[in-house]
Amino acid sequence: MNLKIEIKRDGIFKKFELNSNATTLLNVLEFIKENIDSTLSFKSSCKSGVCGSCAVRVNEKEVLACEYKVQDGDKIEPLQNLNVMRDLIVDYENGLKTLKNRVYLESYKNIKVNIEDERLYRKQSSCILCFSCYSSCPVYEFNPKFLAPFTLSRVYRYVVDTREDSKKSKIDIVQQNGIWDCTLCGNCSLVCPKGIDIKGDIFMLRNQSGSYGYSDPNFVQFDSFGSGGINFSSF
Ligand code: SF4
Ligand code: SF4
Repeated sequence: MNLKIEIKRDGIFKKFELNSNATTLLNVLEFIKENIDSTLSFKSSCKSGVCGSCAVRVNEKEVLACEYKVQDGDKIEPLQNLNVMRDLIVDYENGLKTLKNRVYLESYKNIKVNIEDERLYRKQSSCILCFSCYSSCPVYEFNPKFLAPFTLSRVYRYVVDTREDSKKSKIDIVQQNGIWDCTLCGNCSLVCPKGIDIKGDIFMLRNQSGSYGYSDPNFVQFDSFGSGGINFSSF
């Protein structure tokens, strides 16, 4: 099959034309590396949608290269919101740092977990850390310290875990640079290859925060005159 695609390298899209039977984007990248340009750099490991290491953007949407069926005219670029190391390889460090915030079972209750309990967080536990949600999130444009969407989803996973005895400490973690900075745009949920509804998890964390005395810091309290705290008499 004749194929023309473009790959972003050093900030510029470069055209590649090839004749290959490769179907997945990862196969095409491997073909280019073996037959056209051995310097092309990208990452992959399991080649079966399990490890998450081959995530890139195609036509401005995050995909796993090993699962995506390549099409003529596709424009491929590295994930956004991360430093590009070379071609399609990015540095995950900034996003991974946000997982160091006690995102694990912290205060363990030694109780029996039944199948219904486990169902509450089964989906969130399937995250493969592909960083697609991180790349799709618009919040980094104005807050580079925003906790990663996958981190917020994991926090929710532990908040609903019946064994966690310190739910408040989990809720505390997400108050700054977290759930209230999210615009609820839903990009993260749309691109997640594991079908995790990250936006939904963030919404649930907001609801749960109310039970621990937190409220949206962006919310303007309206007084009984509906003035939103503004003294109109001074105008
Ligand atoms: S829903 Fe929130 S976390 Fe998800 S991409 Fe939008 S702003 Fe980011
Ligand atoms: S939550 Fe989904 S999109 Fe985000 S890192 Fe995990 S698997 Fe990837």
